[in-house]
Amino acid sequence: MAAVFCLVFVIIVLYKGFCGGGEIEQIEWLLCPVCGRKTRIKVCVETVLVNFLLLCPKCNEETLIDVQKQVVSVINKPDTAI
Ligand SMILES: [Zn+2]
Repeated sequence: MAAVFCLVFVIIVLYKGFCGGGEIEQIEWLLCPVCGRKTRIKVCVETVLVNFLLLCPKCNEETLIDVQKQVVSVINKPDTAI
């Protein structure tokens, strides 16, 4: 029985190793450039977003952004004031 648990543990370690190079904590929540709070998007270091329309669930603002190496660049904030 203990061997089964041990095997499961090894599989989990291998799985994490394949998916994130063992550094699963490099995946970060994308922060809203308007209010600075967490959105529902997660990005890892390799994630590249171009002309991504980010909708913030907290302030309901839509922002066009680029993301590279977890750095957010705002392309154009939609003009809320007409
Ligand atoms: Zn926001």
